[in-house]
Amino acid sequence: MTWKSLSKSNYLAGLQCPKLLWIKVNEKDRIPEPDETKQLRFTNGYEIEALAKSLFEEGVDLSELDYKENLKVTEEKLHERRVLFEPSFNIDRLYSRADVLVPVEDNEWDVYEIKSSTKVKDINVHDLSFQRHVYEKAGLRIRDVNLIHVNTEYVYNGKILIPRELFTIANLNEQVQEASEGLEKRIESFLKIIDGNEPTVDIGPHCTSPYSCDLRELCWAGYPEDNVFNLYYAKKDQVTKLRKQGIHRIADIPLEFDLTANQHIQRVAHITGNEQVNDEKVREFLQGLKYPLYFMDFETINPGIPKFKGTKPYQRLPFQYSLHIQDTPEENPRHIEFLHTEDTDPREPFLRSLQENLGKEGTIVVYNKSFEESLLRETAKAYPTYQAWVNKVKPRMTDLLVPFRNFWYYHPGQNGSTSIKSVLPVLGNSNYDNLSIAKGEIANIRYEAAVYGNMSPEERESVFIDLREYCKQDTQAEIDIIVGLRRITT
Ligand code: SF4
Repeated sequence: MTWKSLSKSNYLAGLQCPKLLWIKVNEKDRIPEPDETKQLRFTNGYEIEALAKSLFEEGVDLSELDYKENLKVTEEKLHERRVLFEPSFNIDRLYSRADVLVPVEDNEWDVYEIKSSTKVKDINVHDLSFQRHVYEKAGLRIRDVNLIHVNTEYVYNGKILIPRELFTIANLNEQVQEASEGLEKRIESFLKIIDGNEPTVDIGPHCTSPYSCDLRELCWAGYPEDNVFNLYYAKKDQVTKLRKQGIHRIADIPLEFDLTANQHIQRVAHITGNEQVNDEKVREFLQGLKYPLYFMDFETINPGIPKFKGTKPYQRLPFQYSLHIQDTPEENPRHIEFLHTEDTDPREPFLRSLQENLGKEGTIVVYNKSFEESLLRETAKAYPTYQAWVNKVKPRMTDLLVPFRNFWYYHPGQNGSTSIKSVLPVLGNSNYDNLSIAKGEIANIRYEAAVYGNMSPEERESVFIDLREYCKQDTQAEIDIIVGLRRITT
């Protein structure tokens, strides 16, 4: 019998779900290939990791070696007591590879794990507790375990990145000590799982925490779409109670079950199959709109490694907007757009263009106002000449999310979601299905690839066309939703 090893990533999978662990080890082919968004996260992660490694003196990089070669060279190089990048260890069926191992006094080592995130998470502590256990088992004496993560307070000077300021090094000795309690028992049980038959595990909140599980489509197939997990702001114990009673569909929730006011509206909508409308509130909302109407939407990027002077890691930078302007109720809206296609800082051209086109009066309709509002505020901070104008723009903004967040309108087809992409198909009779770019995250990825990557001019142009269509669809959706709300309240 070939003994299967428990790697660090599989140990973490085991903490999330035994079935996930088993499939990762025994039937990996069932795990879908990473999508475009995930791929980009990996690429960003690699870039950040490479930069973080420059914090250390020159060492031996083992990252290019294959599995066996790496284990062999690690063993050899440990004696040289040099900084090692990506050394790996396999002992008693446990396998782990360290991002960085640094020799320190008294024949000890410090371990560094590099993450592109901005703070220490529980999962990082578990990761390091497993690593320390494996390295100690392999005979190393570990002094410190550290997490290197991105420091969001770092401000790029526009000339040179300073890794020791861009990153924060957190010593996790104490947390790792705590997380190590029961570790050996957990490892033992995980090894039993991977040696046994595929465990049966019910779906639940663990499918999305700490990560959205790659096997969701597989495990959730056949589960009703209008399920109790989709109750608006569902509490964990509400869902657990309902499922324990064998209730899976929102429509089957008994009247006496304790629900919030919005969840109650949801329940009625799912039972009757009909939309629920608070006519008075929706009418009041619509009456608050003052012509000319400006339907507005922004797109942003937020690079982990700052690209422009004065920006911080993961700071949002607007690069595109769409604006539909409707001067009177009788007129058709006209469309204006902005897309920054250069590899320069997009913020000032964005603000300048928006200021030219937003007029001086009339309601600005946005979906989820806090996003546009805070972005304008943040961006104008860097360009103070725009601050007075931004202060005048903010009171003109109306949030089209309000009627949906307050359940003045709810359709069972929304399945508990109030996002524009869920509301549009039920109220506006259209959707994002035929667009090459149909998600904000994809828009950002493609934009970065087109503007900062190595695309051919033709490929770039094609991405820009898709981006324009996508952003335009967002403001067209706002128009369609308003038309829909008018239709049902007149
Ligand atoms: S989808 Fe849920 S139940 Fe299925 S493997 Fe993932 S975490 Fe486990």
